[in-house]
Amino acid sequence: MTSSKRVLIVGGVAGGASCAARLRRLCETAEIVMFDRGPYVSFANCGLPYYVGNVIRNEAKLLVASADLFKSRFDIDVRTGHEVVAIDRKACAIAVRNLVTGEIRQERYDALVLSPGARAIRPDVPGVDLFGVFSVRTIPDSRRVREFIDEKSPKAAIVVGGGFIGLEMAENLVQRGMSVTVVEKADQVMPPLDFEMAAFVERRLRERGVAVRISDAVAGFAHSADGRIVTTTEKGARITGDLVVLAIGVRPETSLAVACGLEIGPTGGIAVDDCMRTSDLRIYAVGDAVETTDVVTGKKQIVPLAGPASRQGRVAAGAIAGREVRFRGAQATAVCGVLGLTVAATGASEKALVRAGIADYDRIYLHPGHHAGYYPGSKPIHMKVLYRRSDGRILGAQAIGEEGVERRIDVISTAIQLGATMHDLAEAELCYAPQYGAAKDPINLAGFIGENALSGDMPLARWEDVGAAFVLDVRDPGECAAGMLSGAVNIPLSELRGRLGELPKDRSIDVMCAAGQRAYYAVRLLRQHGLDARNLCGGWRTYEAMR
Ligand code: FAD
Repeated sequence: MTSSKRVLIVGGVAGGASCAARLRRLCETAEIVMFDRGPYVSFANCGLPYYVGNVIRNEAKLLVASADLFKSRFDIDVRTGHEVVAIDRKACAIAVRNLVTGEIRQERYDALVLSPGARAIRPDVPGVDLFGVFSVRTIPDSRRVREFIDEKSPKAAIVVGGGFIGLEMAENLVQRGMSVTVVEKADQVMPPLDFEMAAFVERRLRERGVAVRISDAVAGFAHSADGRIVTTTEKGARITGDLVVLAIGVRPETSLAVACGLEIGPTGGIAVDDCMRTSDLRIYAVGDAVETTDVVTGKKQIVPLAGPASRQGRVAAGAIAGREVRFRGAQATAVCGVLGLTVAATGASEKALVRAGIADYDRIYLHPGHHAGYYPGSKPIHMKVLYRRSDGRILGAQAIGEEGVERRIDVISTAIQLGATMHDLAEAELCYAPQYGAAKDPINLAGFIGENALSGDMPLARWEDVGAAFVLDVRDPGECAAGMLSGAVNIPLSELRGRLGELPKDRSIDVMCAAGQRAYYAVRLLRQHGLDARNLCGGWRTYEAMR
């Protein structure tokens, strides 16, 4: 970029602030003005639940960069308390309302970047605006919840929505000493995860005293005679609490884009190309407001996460500065802490593959320790990995556990980005000392299992089809006392070689154990004796989660 361009940015948080700062690094001559209707720019939305929970005690810590810093360090003009109310594409100008004085001014642009984020969805039910019913999207929002908690010492809270933000809020309200009920419309918490993986999260919530109402939606809120809030649900439950937090998701903030006729994509986000340019070549859009391409399914999707928003801001800045840049799409890599559990996922879930009409996939489950079992403190990681059956390419992964979860998902996320296969995971060379990992890291184990399935050494049986074949349980009898599949025959692995005659030669044999490893050994043994054995992958631990 040579001559002095005037670049205006709407929204000064993840996408907008990244774009502004990057643009200055690429171009000293541009005039950059960033507008935000809120009182701050560049604040840490992701920290808000922890501010409510008093884990982050000082509100100032949420401010990553101030307007003064943008001015002094980058010569970027920041106007907070200024709402952009219209875009005149013909005149290349925006109308900006000063929220203090009410004055509206026209501002001309050479390039305009929209990063207005998303708005919290509020259920259309009676009482949603009552005092004590909150959403948490901004610092003032979370300050209001904090002040409410500090003043009223509430005993019970209802969180509406069991997704990432809802469960972060639930954790932080528990942290503030409240008993918490989560109401979730879907038939599971953490809707981006597959059902059986979400079961581990739901179990943890219940174990820690959080009441979970799934497959139910709120129908309304009302004040009780003693000033508390009664939440009613569509299934007729009445839950009395002192405060309600709404966390049922977000919708792209597209009002400006719609009003000026920019193209909106099929998912409801602003349509952009891979340089983050909208249908108007002078207008770029980034962050929660846009739709992006899912790198796994190729479908359009909305990914309201900070990482993609920042990277898109960087790409838009590059494009404005005339660089060859491209946003490659997003794969929804996300992590969340829930009462001591870490829940992380990347790429497509199984239900996303099904929704996208992709049938060429298989899945494996494993439950390895996060580090060598002989070193004290090893904790299980429950993992599911999806890959293409035809060539082993990794499509997605989900993992849940207390330690080492995000590291494994980050490795798989990078593998997906590089187009890697299950064979690459088998070959991955990862750091190991007993307190950190294992010589055969969970990543390698996932790769081994995938390779064994792909090569035909260990065909996989599906839990959904269980019962059609002969079921062999190779756990020890003591383990089976906790529960067995109906009709299953128990022959412990150590006795199997001597008892092959008890197995049918004319039927498939689905083999299971506790987590899948002994079943693998048994499958190899049986197949080498000419029997059609398959592994019920993930064993009893997966089956229990599926129920
Ligand atoms: P935003 O960061 O929402 O910024 C948009 C800004 O635009 C706002 O400040 C708004 O005031 C302003 N604006 C909108 N319209 C106008 C207008 N017309 N005029 C002027 N200004 C306007 N993501 C993660 O990856 N990890 C997490 O752990 C995580 N936790 C989260 C927790 C919470 C409670 C919330 C709310 C979000 C969380 N996110 C998390 C999501 C992440 O914060 C967003 O994906 C990211 O901030 C999106 O960036 P953005 O620039 O698109 O929009």
